[in-house]
Amino acid sequence: MSVPSYDPASYYTATINDDRPRPALTESLTADVCVIGAGFTGISAALHLAEQGFSVVVVEQKRIGWGASGRNGGQLHSGQRRDQHWLEAHVGKDQAHVLWDMAEEAKALVKDRIARHAIDCDWADGLIHAVHKKAWLAAEQREAEELARDYGYDAITLLDRDELAAAIGTDVYFGGYRDAGAGHLHPLNFVLGMAKAAEDAGARIFEATRVTDIGSGQPVVVKTEKGEVRAANVVLAANGYLEGLEPATEARVLPINNYILATEPLGDRDPIPGDDAVADSRWVVHYWRMSPDRRLIFGGGETYSRRCPADVSGFVRRHMAKIYPQFANVRIDHAWGGTLAITASRMPYFRRTRPGLYVACGFSGHGVAIANLAGRLIGEAVAGDATRFDMFAKLPMMPFPGGKWLRTPIQALAMTWFALRDRL
Ligand SMILES: Cc1cc2nc3c(=O)[nH]c(=O)nc-3n(C[C@H](O)[C@H](O)[C@H](O)COP(=O)(O)OP(=O)(O)OC[C@H]3O[C@@H](n4cnc5c(N)ncnc54)[C@H](O)[C@@H]3O)c2cc1C
Repeated sequence: MSVPSYDPASYYTATINDDRPRPALTESLTADVCVIGAGFTGISAALHLAEQGFSVVVVEQKRIGWGASGRNGGQLHSGQRRDQHWLEAHVGKDQAHVLWDMAEEAKALVKDRIARHAIDCDWADGLIHAVHKKAWLAAEQREAEELARDYGYDAITLLDRDELAAAIGTDVYFGGYRDAGAGHLHPLNFVLGMAKAAEDAGARIFEATRVTDIGSGQPVVVKTEKGEVRAANVVLAANGYLEGLEPATEARVLPINNYILATEPLGDRDPIPGDDAVADSRWVVHYWRMSPDRRLIFGGGETYSRRCPADVSGFVRRHMAKIYPQFANVRIDHAWGGTLAITASRMPYFRRTRPGLYVACGFSGHGVAIANLAGRLIGEAVAGDATRFDMFAKLPMMPFPGGKWLRTPIQALAMTWFALRDRL
């Protein structure tokens, strides 16, 4: 079988460390755990479980990191996708503290794995949050101060408008803060580095191996196009690419597309004097950072159907030019999109939907940290302690309205409304 390519090509595929293909599965295997999907969630679970001595088989329909994990903005954020105010109001103060601590653990896990497995993935400390509405500035900065007071998080420095403009090379924002505990990385090289560590610990990874059915018996029989895996435990880590594999999950998790470009190296036009990543306060977030060779890697714009814009480069360029008008005509060397999954509440979806089947997805743009933690929590649950997995699994998770056929158009309307609010 020919090896699928990393399609679409991106800045990340152009700077990949390890393009070694893994074989496709063409036989029947037995394992303690079968992992479906080789992104952060699946590979993190495989690494954790293999390190604990479980036999693990990972099956990936394309290549390791082919999905969102190998295409994203690489930004490692603090906290959950919802802020602490929202969490305190919805799950209570105690749970909000536990969720904050777990998000801190997620960041530490990523940094620890980079260090422990010597993963060459351009890690850099620092993420700046830029506020795009004057009326929001005081509240956003107050929240940052509350993190220090109520959660003991002292990595944040407030930035006024001038300080922010000096740090990010544009004066279109009203102020913000720098989070020294967050940062950014090359996501494809990170997931590939974790995959190698998982293999070193004994996991077996198969690429070009699409799962066509997940059985409901025990052991669970996972059918692939040319083989099968029999396992007591199955980890479904397909996120935005589920496509009919698990209808109960698909009702609550919606795929959306997000887009990124990488400019030519900017040399002395580089707008960011430091190495910080930047994300703004829009609902449809603009996010960016510089690559080691000083290209601007800029993400902005979403679409809600399976179809991508015909001209991804032009689509993202329009967003970039609002922040950096001086780069409106800069050469763009790479532009690509990817599919992530969101939930109605924007908190992740963790469930055991039937005996032996663990599902984690819907990280809603926070997966660099939380999908990696999800792998660890699934690993703990498989090993017999589901306490922390269940903390997430107990979060209420509304299905998207509209059923199978109408939920995408209804959600597209809702998202368009939020995007419009960003502009007003
Ligand atoms: C453009 C973009 C920018 C983003 N930026 C950020 C960011 O800066 N910070 C952040 O925290 N998050 C960001 N995200 C979100 C983040 O990338 C995801 O939350 C995270 O990668 C999810 O990881 P995952 O392993 O769950 O899913 P994925 O990485 O999507 O992996 C799922 C895998 O399952 C495989 N699969 C699916 N179906 C099957 C099947 N039937 N058989 C076998 N394999 C199958 C797919 O091929 C895929 O490789 C971004 C996402 C996108 C698309």
